[in-house]
Amino acid sequence: MIIYSCHGGAKQVTGSCHLITCNDRKVLIDCGMFQGSDEVERGNAEPFGFDPAGIDVVLLTHAHLDHCGRIPLLVRQGFRGRIIATAATRELARIVMLDSAGIQEEDARRAQRKNRRAEPVKLPLYSMDDALHALDFFAADVSYDETIPIVDGIRARFLDAGHILGSASILLDIDDGTQQRSMLFSGDLGNPGRPILRDPTPAPAADYVVMESTYGDRPHRSVPDSVDEMYQAIRDTVTRRGNVVIPSFALERTQEILYYLHRGLRTGAIPQHVRIFLDSPMAISATEIFRRHPECFDVNFQQELQHGDPFAMPGLHFTRETAESMAINNVDGGAIILAGSGMCNGGRIRHHLKHNLWRERSSVVFVGYAAEGTLARRIVDGAASVRIFNEDIPVRAQVWTINGFSAHADQPSLLAWLGEQPRRKVFLVHGEYDRGMHALQEVLEQRGFHCQLPGPHEPIKID
Ligand code: ZN
Repeated sequence: MIIYSCHGGAKQVTGSCHLITCNDRKVLIDCGMFQGSDEVERGNAEPFGFDPAGIDVVLLTHAHLDHCGRIPLLVRQGFRGRIIATAATRELARIVMLDSAGIQEEDARRAQRKNRRAEPVKLPLYSMDDALHALDFFAADVSYDETIPIVDGIRARFLDAGHILGSASILLDIDDGTQQRSMLFSGDLGNPGRPILRDPTPAPAADYVVMESTYGDRPHRSVPDSVDEMYQAIRDTVTRRGNVVIPSFALERTQEILYYLHRGLRTGAIPQHVRIFLDSPMAISATEIFRRHPECFDVNFQQELQHGDPFAMPGLHFTRETAESMAINNVDGGAIILAGSGMCNGGRIRHHLKHNLWRERSSVVFVGYAAEGTLARRIVDGAASVRIFNEDIPVRAQVWTINGFSAHADQPSLLAWLGEQPRRKVFLVHGEYDRGMHALQEVLEQRGFHCQLPGPHEPIKID
């Protein structure tokens, strides 16, 4: 008997976690963190919906926190199996999990300081030690397109998902002794035609497909338009002597933005004297990891590398230390500040927003997804003021929302990826229930696919 259950990303965007049970073997695909509003994030402290000690193998599609963020918690609660991922994913997941542990420990310390006499407000889900312990369970790296045995009756093949460095869709061949079924997990899918990475590998034949639906309801703006819009935002802001604050995801988005800034400087699309700060230790480490994995790059980018390092340029400062980061607060204008987190619910970006949001001369340029309930979403939605570090900050800076940079496939790309081959069923996950998920369901059903939106922890028989 084969059972599929979704323990995160069910009728919601974050927390990706899928379980395949075949006879007495259990394989988990991703073990991500819930991110967004306090209510959503409470899901992290709730039981997994299965026994972590009973999981044989975790297959990790990619290193985003909402796909790997609960792995240290899984280990803390008894998981002792193997974790399998591509080399780039393993290296990136290391910094993502350590960063997450560090933020949780720091938040807990801050809450305790503020609330000395009361009970600790929020305990960290896991510690730095737990995150380090989790690294011990990563087994040998897997390459794209090789078929590997996972447990008795289950084989896996990782396919390039074109989403972030090392990202994969995972195809499982499952044999329970009486029937053979194939099941394809999309992971997060990228958009074709972006710099640095290859396009996603189109979905191969599979009986069942578990598919993300983040942007299942809309097309994105084209990338060249989006790049021009970013250059425009930078020129306008620098001309009026403001700063450009770009909340940026440390993996992929930051490196893409650096690449476009490099190109903008080269072509004169942005002023030569602009100073650029990459103010995120994680993004700096991620950029180093990018340099180490040229095997993940597409052909064009490999050629560009021969003309110099696209992640280095005049005026670019990597500010790893806190003191260097704080010194940016004194920069009155003419700077581009890239910092995380992308959704502004943590990290150094909050300091830069606090110092720039109230200034009419400055701009905030959103280049990524803003989940419901996050600070980024409130600003994108036009809040007149927002609360940062217990202070009300009026929003007077110009706000740009540029969605063409998304690392997620839009509706046309999702449809193209899935193709037209018949499937027994398509499970839609990883999307806002009444937006991307429903919209994609409607389009797929018009095209003759049988769709299901699994509920959290709901066991589904695969026959
Ligand atoms: Zn992702």
